[in-house]
Amino acid sequence: MLAIINAELVMRDHLIPEAVLFVEDGKIAGFGQMRTTPIPEGCEIVDAHGAYVGPGLVDIHCHSGTGVRFIHDPETATKEHLENGTTSILATPSTRGTQTEYLEQIDRIRKAMAAPEGSIIAGIYMEGPFINPGYGSMSNAKGVDVPRVFDPVPEDFEPLLKAGADIIRVWGTAPERENMEVFVKAAKAANPNVRFAVTHSEATPQQIEALMPYGLCIGTHHTNATGTIVNYPECRGVCVDEGVNYNQDIYAELISDSAGIHVNPYMQRLVRRIKGDDRIILISDQTIHDSIEVPGLAHVTDLNFTYRKDGRIDISGSKLTLNAACRNYMKHTGASIVDAFKVGSYNPAKAVGLNDRGEIRVGLRADLIFVDIKMNVKSVVLGGKVVK
Ligand SMILES: [Zn+2]
Repeated sequence: MLAIINAELVMRDHLIPEAVLFVEDGKIAGFGQMRTTPIPEGCEIVDAHGAYVGPGLVDIHCHSGTGVRFIHDPETATKEHLENGTTSILATPSTRGTQTEYLEQIDRIRKAMAAPEGSIIAGIYMEGPFINPGYGSMSNAKGVDVPRVFDPVPEDFEPLLKAGADIIRVWGTAPERENMEVFVKAAKAANPNVRFAVTHSEATPQQIEALMPYGLCIGTHHTNATGTIVNYPECRGVCVDEGVNYNQDIYAELISDSAGIHVNPYMQRLVRRIKGDDRIILISDQTIHDSIEVPGLAHVTDLNFTYRKDGRIDISGSKLTLNAACRNYMKHTGASIVDAFKVGSYNPAKAVGLNDRGEIRVGLRADLIFVDIKMNVKSVVLGGKVVK
């Protein structure tokens, strides 16, 4: 048995100071304050030296790591994330691709999941291809130069379901697209535990709500690549952001970068007020891109800046790891470290059905990280084994 001593345990809604946590057979076996919890003889001792010890982070939306994309080299991509405290990750292909490419990528990720280096990959977040092409993050301008996105019709989706339904945990959808319900029903039949997200979309709240009975429960990078319906120039319409904000059963993904560019700090606080820490999921959305230098923003090193066709500067994904996103979220919203673990571990695990992790509870996987108050990762325990 392993005993982690001198830990500030980060529980779901409180801290246990000066605590000990026991790990046995890869699982959390017990915990308590050191002054009242005897340590059995023969325990292997790991001293946390007063660090916060919380559940490993769960990044459900991430395209790359260690300088490579998950679709090309999933094992290598995991390394940077594990090093920075992410112990479960959903590999995310890009929003566009041919069917052959998607099938190859699913196969490559499946193989990686079975390899030791890829063991933190808990499945796939299929962001594309059923998005609205007008909101493709890979496009250079709205609706321009976007390769064909798939139609939600059986000839397009059946090969993908056949290849990956069991490991695809989340499907992105643009609910406004014709036949989306046909696809959602088929995906649900192929894997009853699958979740759907509203993704790169300009759906009305009603179109989003129509898919909730099938399991739509995530707003992909909330407030990013979402439409705004304007019926009259002086009247703000309601669209994806409002539908996600309004429905408490929908988790809102947030990209929290250091400068608050993806989501303005005021918007992060507003979303936090509306959704609460129980319904926010931090994601890295890490993506590889040749970033351009933007005058005045040289200090912003955790984003990819790109040019759109019309010359405007745009952003594409991030260079974040989830521990940094947690740090930024605390800075921008005033959230506590307990809240940061909730939005960085508990909520994402729960949202995608990883029910054996995401908090410190007896019987759950011993995926644990030791961090300081700024979420710098000192140590990582993966499945009960100290790996950092
Ligand atoms: Zn995206």
